[in-house]
Amino acid sequence: MKLKIAIQKSGRLFDDSLRLLRECGIEFNNGVNKLRSEALNFPLEVLFLRDDDIPQYVSDGVADIGIVGENVAIEKNRDIRTIERLGFGKCRLSIAVPRSFEYDGLSVLEGKKIATSYPFLLGRYLESKGVTAEIHEISGSVEIAPGIGLADAICDLVSSGSTLFLNGLKETEVILKSEAVLVAHDALDAERLAILERLLFRIQAVRKAKR
Ligand code: ATP
Ligand code: ZN
Repeated sequence: MKLKIAIQKSGRLFDDSLRLLRECGIEFNNGVNKLRSEALNFPLEVLFLRDDDIPQYVSDGVADIGIVGENVAIEKNRDIRTIERLGFGKCRLSIAVPRSFEYDGLSVLEGKKIATSYPFLLGRYLESKGVTAEIHEISGSVEIAPGIGLADAICDLVSSGSTLFLNGLKETEVILKSEAVLVAHDALDAERLAILERLLFRIQAVRKAKR
């Protein structure tokens, strides 16, 4: 019996996800085919997937656990449990408007068009603040939407803010502070739970040593 963990196959979370497993003392065959890889000294199998797909695979039980940005974990709104915050992949999901836009509070977005890849998180936030706006879902290059007249504002991931700056935008509201999290299927059997416990124990030790 092996616990299956889904991690991002390439992208911002890939290196740190693998590093974390290695720091936990888990070794892999090099020359892995990058679809899946079995650990040599721990009952773990790694599945390499697009980050957006990880919540669904964990919810369906194709993978038992996964490492994904909290932003994706919440946006996909699946039945999965967040087990542990992992301290990497830090970013924020923010609303930004053109620099010339006179912004004096969220209510100026009433009736405006906001482009985002995070319609669920944005919608939830606007609703909690009592603001109604038109959410325009686009899958990539959200930051160019205002410049080409597609939207009045955007809601996107930000880390340094340089992408916003380069696109003539300013950050006005942070709606989520995100980092990578370990998520798990919500009904793991006892055998899988026992392996997860062992893994979690190691992860927590690694994280403690870094503090
Ligand atoms: P995939 O091909 O797997 O779908 P992607 O392009 O959707 O990849 P990445 O850009 O690699 O995803 O980002 C993965 C995660 O890294 C994000 O969901 C977020 O949690 C985190 N992240 C950290 N900093 C940033 C940032 N500045 N911009 C975007 N994502 C960031
Ligand atoms: Zn993605």
